[in-house]
Amino acid sequence: MANLGISQNTIAILQKYQFRFQKKFGQNFLIDTSVLERIMNAAEITKQDCILEIGPGIGTMTQYLAERAKKVFAVEIDKNLIPILGETLAEYDNVTVINEDILKVDIERLVQEQNGGKPIKVVANLPYYITTPIIMGLFESKVPLHSITIMVQKEVADRMQEMPGSKEYGALSLAVQYYAKPEIVANVPPNCFMPRPTVGSAVIKLTRYEQPPVIVKDEKLMFQIIRASFNQRRKTLVNGLTNASFLQVGKEKILEALDQMGQSASVRGETFSLEQFAQLTNLLCGN
Ligand code: SAM
Repeated sequence: MANLGISQNTIAILQKYQFRFQKKFGQNFLIDTSVLERIMNAAEITKQDCILEIGPGIGTMTQYLAERAKKVFAVEIDKNLIPILGETLAEYDNVTVINEDILKVDIERLVQEQNGGKPIKVVANLPYYITTPIIMGLFESKVPLHSITIMVQKEVADRMQEMPGSKEYGALSLAVQYYAKPEIVANVPPNCFMPRPTVGSAVIKLTRYEQPPVIVKDEKLMFQIIRASFNQRRKTLVNGLTNASFLQVGKEKILEALDQMGQSASVRGETFSLEQFAQLTNLLCGN
């Protein structure tokens, strides 16, 4: 099968099947071989690897993955793409296409079936409308994985890497950095896709930590505290947390915890590092 990273080949297959792009599925297919190569290099794929690809589209990246990995399983929601994938991936016997919604499929069960429960790598040009739920779902569900190498909206890639003090720093930065080391691998302009997206894109690699970089007694509570702090960015941390339904403690205890941390009562959540959110959570759990 011809390399679909070359735009003429993508156009030919789309015309053959009279494929109509569905905006609601975030369909922007890659048509740039050098970007595809860079994604493969960043993901460090070897013949030992089992790969989950989210949204294979017409199979462009799937071809690259199938050439390099032991096994690829690709989850695609659009049933109109399934016959096309049948043709574009026909020569590979190490690819399984699953016609499902990635947000509904039981990924842990899939990893069990496809790789005997051993860690996989996730590689994808993601549908941008569901980037955050996909990433958080993968991390929170404890699917065994080494790394996630993905194309996302440029702005979202930046947010995942941000540190306190930046305007873009927020709940997503903290969640990603709790589970993984983020590293932007490439910036990708709209002309590398068909059709062209209206936003810039970037490839980011998230390498999962074996142990999170901070010790927290109650992970769920820490993320509730983080979300509450950033939901009301302009409020002080104390005001954001007072009366929060998930906290069993009142204002006095929160002030006491901040005091123990050497923080003033007027501190804002957006200045807190991951370590500080963990410390605050541990102090509030203890109460
Ligand atoms: N991997 C292809 C490429 O790079 O050319 C296509 C990438 S395109 C940005 C995103 C793909 O994800 C589309 O094929 C789309 O149909 C699929 N998709 C969208 N929502 C999905 C979902 N909930 N579950 C699985 N696939 C989805």
